[in-house]
Amino acid sequence: MTDKTTSGKVSVSPERMRLSEDGSDGVLLGTKCNGCGLCVFGDSVFCVRCTSGDLKAVDLSPDGTLYSYTIIHAPPARWKGPVPYILGSVKLPEGPQVLSEVIDIDPNAVEIDMPMKLVLRAGEADDEGREIMVYKWQAATAG
Ligand SMILES: [Zn+2]
Repeated sequence: MTDKTTSGKVSVSPERMRLSEDGSDGVLLGTKCNGCGLCVFGDSVFCVRCTSGDLKAVDLSPDGTLYSYTIIHAPPARWKGPVPYILGSVKLPEGPQVLSEVIDIDPNAVEIDMPMKLVLRAGEADDEGREIMVYKWQAATAG
């Protein structure tokens, strides 16, 4: 698994998102159970449904639908983005739900089940000055 790229960008969470070589694009990573078929976001040691340890790493779709969302008016102390902001849980076709910020949309325009797509944004730099790339959700119709 690669968490460094030629561009000097790093994934915010290498076990959850693999960056492309130039760091501009990313793929969400999941774990699928060979026993019962359950697919979860990120890596796992055993299946939370059937406890099997027979798992395989899979790439997840960059497209999903908005399962639920909330509007955050009181962000964490380290939050540097806009306030309020939208935190959305997007359901992917493989099954997992992935929680992240929903960007570039008026909160009044957000609707449950609307199609969403994965987008990357540069966050803060890490201790070595590399840009930390963060996955976010954007309406599939945007940009
Ligand atoms: Zn299982």
